[in-house]
Amino acid sequence: MRAMVQTGFGGPDVLGLADVPVPSPGPADVLVRVAACGLNQLDVLQRRGDVRLPGLELPHVAGMDVAGVVEAAGEDSPVPVGARVVLDPSLPCGACPLCHEGRGGHCPNLRILGATIDGGLAEFVLAPASAAHVLPEGIDLVEAACLPTPWATAYSAVVRVGRLRAGETLLVHAAAGNVGLAAVQIAQRVGAHVVATVGSPEKAAALAAVGVKHVVVGTEDAPSLVAEVTDGRGADVVLEYLGPATWAASMSALRIGGRLVFLGNTTGDQVTFSLSDAFHRGLELLGAGGYLPSDMAAALQLFADGGTATVAGRFALEDAGVAQDLLCDRSTVGRVLVIP
Ligand SMILES: [Zn+2]
Repeated sequence: MRAMVQTGFGGPDVLGLADVPVPSPGPADVLVRVAACGLNQLDVLQRRGDVRLPGLELPHVAGMDVAGVVEAAGEDSPVPVGARVVLDPSLPCGACPLCHEGRGGHCPNLRILGATIDGGLAEFVLAPASAAHVLPEGIDLVEAACLPTPWATAYSAVVRVGRLRAGETLLVHAAAGNVGLAAVQIAQRVGAHVVATVGSPEKAAALAAVGVKHVVVGTEDAPSLVAEVTDGRGADVVLEYLGPATWAASMSALRIGGRLVFLGNTTGDQVTFSLSDAFHRGLELLGAGGYLPSDMAAALQLFADGGTATVAGRFALEDAGVAQDLLCDRSTVGRVLVIP
């Protein structure tokens, strides 16, 4: 089969198209014919060598977010040949104490499809059948490659950890990012109101396209827009992944008893805030942690309810390196897909 194989660390030229053997599934595996693979920042970081997750070995095939059709299945696979699936790239061992506790995202033996083991920049990819989620009807197979990491992450943060409910108001910063676009659509589908901030007017258009009415460019005006939308009450939940750049606006936008869910440190790792303000108002500061397989399944069901996959570009397998570098352009909105 054709695969885009990484043989060194550096620019796109460390990737090369190669003919490699098609892997054969063990009893609990599926072999998936890749329809599309959504790229992630981690692909670029690992290609350059800036990040090397434990277990990464060269030669390596990147590509974490895979949608495709099951081509062959081991005898113990509950997912049949021919099923349309997306693959959860996060593969906990299932046997350690943290896995037994339901904290598979923290499994010390965690493998990640396309990051620590070979992934979807190939015609076929091998995965445990337990990682294959059958797509609800009505979801386009290629667009489904936009979903796994951002939608499961957003569902986990907003609904499972943040406990967002119908009628509540969610504030999302950098909402034109892939997790942001998933979070606002998930909030809409649980019946919540959404206020979004974006970095530029062009990015506001991406939010309008998914039906978000309350969008502000920049973060400074976010608390006042939230106050306007909530009759002065404040946001029930804020999704925060930028860190210092937005932390103050996030805290001040929260209602009494509000929940701040944080899952990123894009602009730095240290923040300061008033302890007395936080405890007097009874704020809950909730670290998101990793998502769970149940988050992925729930997110897919919500997406099937008319969700929009925003695609920034579709690239052929041989152009995967160029496609990866598009992720570094901060003006890109939506997922970059490789179609093997
Ligand atoms: Zn484990």
